[in-house]
Amino acid sequence: MDLTKHAFFEGKITPLGEAKINIATHGFLYGTAVFGGMRGYWNEEKQSLFVFRPYDHFRRLLNSGRMMAMNIQYDEESLIQLTLDLLRSDNWRQDVYLRPTIYKADLGIGVRLHNLKDEFCMFVIAYEPYVKNDTNAHVTISSWRRIDDNVIPARGKIAGAYANSALIKTDANRAGFDEALVLDHNGHVSEGSAMNVFMVRDGVLVTPPVTDNILEGITRRSIIELARNELGIEVVERSIDRTEVFIAEEMFMTGTAAQVVAVTKIDHRPVGAGTMGPITTKLRSLFDDVVRAKHSKYQRWNVEVK
Ligand code: PMP
Repeated sequence: MDLTKHAFFEGKITPLGEAKINIATHGFLYGTAVFGGMRGYWNEEKQSLFVFRPYDHFRRLLNSGRMMAMNIQYDEESLIQLTLDLLRSDNWRQDVYLRPTIYKADLGIGVRLHNLKDEFCMFVIAYEPYVKNDTNAHVTISSWRRIDDNVIPARGKIAGAYANSALIKTDANRAGFDEALVLDHNGHVSEGSAMNVFMVRDGVLVTPPVTDNILEGITRRSIIELARNELGIEVVERSIDRTEVFIAEEMFMTGTAAQVVAVTKIDHRPVGAGTMGPITTKLRSLFDDVVRAKHSKYQRWNVEVK
């Protein structure tokens, strides 16, 4: 990580190497922080950087904050302006990943949410691919369960809840898999360690509903819209049973970092023909055009860094 690049910390833009918190910070001690993950995409033809759906990302961040009784002085619009200032400060000319966080900033002991100060911060890193086998991922069904909304809000991006994702990801990787499918307390497929999940059954694209303990993914929402409007495919949001995934024609996972990852094997069983299917292939290339501001119809999702 390049510590000379800039971050937004305690109200101003500062080198990342100087953006430090104290070890007694509440958010560090108790995981009482909420975060986002956004990407900026370099468009070679236009020689310009475009941030993908920042309004939606900041809206979700502020909503996660609301669930955790947090209050900051910024709204979606001011956070977008701050993002553009930050990206301009290092004149980024490549794909980047942005990590905004709101955290409980008081120092000291005492687990609670109220009567604590909230701080906003954000850093930027050069983007590196997230899942290696993004055209032929082999996933397992995790022995861990997805956190339930009545345990820690599953629809929020709460820092402490990512201990669950870390357990899932490490066990999957150590067992030789690229990712995992995680069941919720009802035994339904919820999502991956940090990605939403889709399957194709009988030509219909199916994804778990927002009430099945998923994070309300922005890539998920984008893919639903693109599948319906551009490919004319029926999309259904419904619960998915564990064994349904073994008889799906196609499966893929979506997320800001991972984008659209084709799943071609689940616990050693091939998905469909065992290679990336036609719907996944089309959605991957369509999504790449859309995020790079190459698709005129969806340019409302691309905010240019000028
Ligand atoms: N689920 C979880 C648990 C995640 O952390 C992420 C990554 N933010 C996603 C799904 C995908 O969401 P998005 O498309 O908004 O990145």
